[in-house]
Amino acid sequence: MTPEFFINLPKVELHAHINGSISENTMAALVEQKGGVDPSWRLAFKNGESDTLESVFKMFKLIHKVTDTVEAVYKVTYDVIHEFAAENVKYLELRTTPRSEPSTGMTKLSYVESVIRAIQDCSKESLDIIVRLILAIDRRHPVSVAMETVNLAAEYREKTDGLVVGIDFSGDPNAGDGAEFIPVFEEGRRQGLKLALHLAEVPAPEETWKILQVTPDRIGHGTCLQPDTGGSKQLEDFVTRHRIPLELCLTSNIVGKTVEGYDNHHFQYWYDLGHPCVICTDDKGVFSTTLSREYSIAAETFSLSDKQMWDLSYRSIDFIFSDEHVKHMLRKKWTDSKDRLSVK
Ligand code: 5GP
Repeated sequence: MTPEFFINLPKVELHAHINGSISENTMAALVEQKGGVDPSWRLAFKNGESDTLESVFKMFKLIHKVTDTVEAVYKVTYDVIHEFAAENVKYLELRTTPRSEPSTGMTKLSYVESVIRAIQDCSKESLDIIVRLILAIDRRHPVSVAMETVNLAAEYREKTDGLVVGIDFSGDPNAGDGAEFIPVFEEGRRQGLKLALHLAEVPAPEETWKILQVTPDRIGHGTCLQPDTGGSKQLEDFVTRHRIPLELCLTSNIVGKTVEGYDNHHFQYWYDLGHPCVICTDDKGVFSTTLSREYSIAAETFSLSDKQMWDLSYRSIDFIFSDEHVKHMLRKKWTDSKDRLSVK
């Protein structure tokens, strides 16, 4: 399989944080508009570099200083959608944490509206991509803020005719007790929102077990679910029994050193079980990757054939937060692609 095969393969991206997905070009333009930033700021990890999760989170703080206006947020969202569309991502769920910046007048409301406007503007162009939005809860913030995010998501879901589809739970996994947010997840579910929660990104079996009881619709990372990665048989059995899809981000885990190397990645374990797995980028800008590259790394590392890669991509459609009509449309696109890709 050539690099072109992975670019031409139609794909679904379900785990992409907007501010982590900023490309080098967009970042350069934003920095120039700002009249430059402190040259010591590190705004992405180049290919092959790795560091700690702590450094990854420090980087987000700097990126947020660059994307501190509604105009910047609009540009980032608009560009990220175009970049995913250019590598044949046909369905994209973006996620982002509503953020205010008093110094520029950006409020959480104007932030969310800017993101939505960019998505809507892209949908008026002739791009072959469907985009949905997930609002993110940062676990470093109080539970009351998380509840506001749920209400904001529910409000904008109504206002946008279903463009906002769910709630994400993210932020530094070593911060605080995630179980405190359970009432928030329950409220999100009550309001009809889907739950895509970062879970077991680092070993935290008690917290993970408590949060699992809300039965998330999808799990981000799930690195430490199995007993040999700091989880437990109980966690693994729950996830397996409920067939909760895993959003797996290979390069992200290597750079953040929560996984030692590609060939140790838990993708292999869950894939071999026949468990629902979706390959995602997490933060394509920060980790200098693309979804096509992540597919290519998976194929090479785990010796998967073109048919297996096509199937993996096709099965991802089952786990999107959109209705059967959208799934049907996507499945047709995938089937049509088979001949073009010479996949038997
Ligand atoms: P934003 O929500 O500002 O668009 O995207 C950046 C934010 O996403 C970060 O500040 C962090 O809260 C979250 N995020 C991005 N990547 C990761 C990750 O790998 N793990 C976790 N737990 N959170 C992440």
